Amino acid sequence: MSDLIDALRDILDDRGVLTGDDVSTRMIHVWYQRPIEALCIVRPRTTEEVAAVLKLCHARGQTVVPHGGLTGLVQGCNCGPGDVVLSLERMNTVEDIDPVGRTMTVQAGVPLQVLQETADEHGLMFPLDLGARGSCHIGGNVSTNAGGNRVIRFGMTRDNVLGLEAVLADGTVVTSLNTMIKNNAGYDLKHLFIGTEGTLGIVTRVVIRLREAPRALSTAFAAFDDFKQVTAFLRYIDRELGGALCAFEVLWRDFYELVTTAPADNVRPVPCEFPNYVLIEALGTGADGAGEHFEAIMGEALEQGLIADAAVARSESDRKAMWRIRDSVEHFFRYGPAFLYDVSLGIRFMDDYVGEVKRRLDERWPEHHCFTLGHIADGNIHFAINVGDDGADAHALVNACVYEPLQPVGGSVSAEHGIGTEKRAYLPLSRGANEIDLMRRVKAALDPKGILNPGKVFPA
Ligand SMILES: Cc1cc2nc3c(=O)[nH]c(=O)nc-3n(C[C@H](O)[C@H](O)[C@H](O)COP(=O)(O)OP(=O)(O)OC[C@H]3O[C@@H](n4cnc5c(N)ncnc54)[C@H](O)[C@@H]3O)c2cc1C
Repeated sequence: MSDLIDALRDILDDRGVLTGDDVSTRMIHVWYQRPIEALCIVRPRTTEEVAAVLKLCHARGQTVVPHGGLTGLVQGCNCGPGDVVLSLERMNTVEDIDPVGRTMTVQAGVPLQVLQETADEHGLMFPLDLGARGSCHIGGNVSTNAGGNRVIRFGMTRDNVLGLEAVLADGTVVTSLNTMIKNNAGYDLKHLFIGTEGTLGIVTRVVIRLREAPRALSTAFAAFDDFKQVTAFLRYIDRELGGALCAFEVLWRDFYELVTTAPADNVRPVPCEFPNYVLIEALGTGADGAGEHFEAIMGEALEQGLIADAAVARSESDRKAMWRIRDSVEHFFRYGPAFLYDVSLGIRFMDDYVGEVKRRLDERWPEHHCFTLGHIADGNIHFAINVGDDGADAHALVNACVYEPLQPVGGSVSAEHGIGTEKRAYLPLSRGANEIDLMRRVKAALDPKGILNPGKVFPA
């Protein structure tokens, strides 16, 4: 293999190919302390370098695993001693911002938070937002079609990408850097690379769609007596805000208690005595009385009995404190390793579904911990489940508790995190045989040697 490393070094600069300790001292994920095992890590700086690396690897049938910010939650970056890891970390340049057309063209390794801050400097907003914003890359967001906190208003990553550039397995560069909202000239090829987890190509550049920055945000934290009240309130607030609702994050009591109890230092905006809580946020102009309107409709909801209790953020620090509660997901691991889930289903089925999952867990592991929250308006629930055993057998049993009750209601085993290696055995629960067959045919057409992110989405 040393001749492959030499050939890669001919393509890239000195720090472009890492081997030995430079590989094994890096971790595979921002949360998990598991060292990377790989033949080498290549760190190109341009699309041309990515293309040259892939051309070489394709000719040799060499497998390549793309790495972005390593925050993915389905083990999509898993690699082994025989793989070349292709990290986009040095492709981190914002190439162009067009404040008139409201677009930004960036390299794939730019962290999400940098995009958000760059847009903000121009009075604009990139609406995609998630807890991993400081570490995840736009290329990773595209490859996983990340969702996050504002999907109810702005959609998923797919809805905020206008164009992109990708390098195919054989090194062919497909530049499709469309900057227009409307472009029906033939197939919209970007969708081949959005949400396909690095199995069809390496995303190298992205054109994102920006919006005008809100001049004000109205935020509140509300408590509910039951889930029916939550869904009634969702309809009420969405209607009253007339399209301004941008976040509706539901926390079950188990999660609220976890993240507001030491060692977590979050302060409770409302008492921890209700089954459900919602973090609500609305966009406003600041000059249009939106803040007053928001307070008035929250007050009205309290009077009408649509909510049990609520606190409205009075300052940016109140707002940040409320979001910190929602984002304190690192506490999932307080009682040891936890299995993480990201399912979606119709809102009308959710209450019974969550009850059924917890009933099944209780039956088998009375001492288990299950923390529940979700982007409920998008039909998306997350669980973190600890049963005191993180072995493969326990994992399969917990998977059955979570996935089996999804089937009768037509739910999905992955709302926003993707399939990776972790969920590939469960893909047939959410996709039909012909759908999976077509996915495989697309994969075979674009990557006939199967060198790109092998074993992800479906078995190699
Ligand atoms: C605290 C926390 C909160 C999170 N919240 C959310 C959330 O609200 N919503 C949500 O959807 N996700 C969430 N996630 C999951 C994760 O942040 C997203 O999946 C994110 O989009 C991954 O980006 P990344 O750059 O870290 O990608 P990685 O983890 O590095 O890679 C993810 C996948 O994409 C592939 N890939 C990466 N870059 C490229 C590229 N340039 N070209 C081709 N393939 C590539 C990888 O091979 C892998 O299969 C969260 C994660 C954490 C840790």
